[in-house]
Amino acid sequence: MKAKAIPKVTSSIRDLINEMFELMREEEGAGLAAPQVGESLRLFITEARPDEEIPERVFINPVLSKLDGDLIPYDEGCLSLPEIRGLIRRPTSVAIDALDLQGNAFHLESDAFPARVWQHEFDHLEGLLIIDRMTPIDRLRNRKAVKLLEREAGL
Ligand code: ZN
Repeated sequence: MKAKAIPKVTSSIRDLINEMFELMREEEGAGLAAPQVGESLRLFITEARPDEEIPERVFINPVLSKLDGDLIPYDEGCLSLPEIRGLIRRPTSVAIDALDLQGNAFHLESDAFPARVWQHEFDHLEGLLIIDRMTPIDRLRNRKAVKLLEREAGL
């Protein structure tokens, strides 16, 4: 399911963002998208990376562009899919436009780890999970964990 755009950055959106930061830190994630906490909204957050001088960030109504570079496989996990990991191929570089916590537009580009996280979190807004992007072999490798999750979800 595709998440819905956020028409205005209200105090309830800011409350949701605070809760998301708490949860992301409890789970030690690199990022977290609103659909992962049951809110079908176009919003995700990413954790700070002090070693690379990258601050924590909020992306509201993000749009990706300039997806470029080689498709590089990288071992990804997801807070929504514990026990499941797989090599996901994504372009190395990407640009992103979004609104920040104050509702101001900003533009960023990356050809490093943030490019990977932005694409992963953006997928959540489009209703895509890493199992949808895995190679058939990795999907097979994870089939027990996937079955268990499906059973828990009552599928
Ligand atoms: Zn995820």
